[in-house]
Amino acid sequence: MRYLSVILPLVLIGAVAVFSWLVTWLGALVIASPIKPPDRAHWTERARSAFPLWSFTAFTPVVLGFLFIVMVPVVLQIDDAPQASWVAGTTALAAFIMSMLASTGTEARVRGREVSLLDTVKGWLITVLLFLPSLAVFGAMIPFLPSRLNWHAAIVMAVAVLVILILRYGGDLFVLRTFGLLREPPAALREMVARLAADAGVQCRCYVVEWKSANAVAFTSTNVVAFSTSMLEIMDEKELAAVASHEIAHLCEPRRAQLARFFGSFLFLPVFAAGPIIGTFGFGGFVIGLAFTALGYSGLQRVARAMEVRADAAGHASEVDEGCYARALEKLYAYNLVPAVLRQKRMTHPHLYDRLLAAGVTPAYPRPAPPPNWPTLVADFIVAMSAFMFISFLGAVIHLLAGI
Ligand SMILES: [Zn+2]
Repeated sequence: MRYLSVILPLVLIGAVAVFSWLVTWLGALVIASPIKPPDRAHWTERARSAFPLWSFTAFTPVVLGFLFIVMVPVVLQIDDAPQASWVAGTTALAAFIMSMLASTGTEARVRGREVSLLDTVKGWLITVLLFLPSLAVFGAMIPFLPSRLNWHAAIVMAVAVLVILILRYGGDLFVLRTFGLLREPPAALREMVARLAADAGVQCRCYVVEWKSANAVAFTSTNVVAFSTSMLEIMDEKELAAVASHEIAHLCEPRRAQLARFFGSFLFLPVFAAGPIIGTFGFGGFVIGLAFTALGYSGLQRVARAMEVRADAAGHASEVDEGCYARALEKLYAYNLVPAVLRQKRMTHPHLYDRLLAAGVTPAYPRPAPPPNWPTLVADFIVAMSAFMFISFLGAVIHLLAGI
């Protein structure tokens, strides 16, 4: 407790912020240097070359945030003091934000278009809200958990579950709107979505998200579909309609898929509550919890993938022009520079190349080789190890100072 004056936490947060910026900037520089495909190369080749940097900038803020939120209470050796929770949370947030900011310039260089600091911040806020809300909330919960399962732990977990539920049932849209990232759609888009939804037999609202990434999203709990501003810029009306049909198909999924998605939001609780679970049941208890999560996750992935294939079939079936759904998909991947084939076998979305074939279009180019995963894995391993050494060093200095 005596180490937690006002100065030491500030020094800790500042040092971690500078470290996180530097390590991400350096990592991105090293990982980006060997890749420079000619500008006239086919987009699949450019996407393949950009992938290591793209995944490094996506993973590193999360890796650093998670590492510091777990390590700071250990280093400070005051895991039950309430201030430690705030110091750990703020340090992890500082690491996340600085790492995210460090990747802005390099990302813009590889994608070949302007990505401002504000765009990066907006992009991360949207990504966390739309795709990682549970992980973010459970991650933020870690420093507030005690070392054993008791009433205190139950209340912290219940609050986290409640926040996730609120986000799921409209809170996500509320946050987007509050930050000025959610807009009403143009009248033509609203009418088109309403017509397609009526054909599918669902009620559905439509919005536009201020987002540099080309994407469309279905909010399955609130019957909303949203399109990013970039998506509206690159697609014609027919392509938009085909993508809208894909998203609307997500709103009329069978009940078992809806249930799987609902319970899937809480699947990772045993992982994030590792501290109190190990403190109460030992490491064996944690392994059992982990096994449940892994089992549930593999089931959820299977359902989610089946739902993507089903939604792709709906997009293809709705085509006004033959091949316009496939055209829309390819535009989306090319704009975002997402490789047409990835190394992972069982992802939620099938590879673009297979989605095009399923939509009845054989690409004019041969199936591209997947990009390598090892550069990102090696780089993030080095980042995690150096972060570990850095925080241990800081801990030693703090203890030394406290001893004087
Ligand atoms: Zn989908």
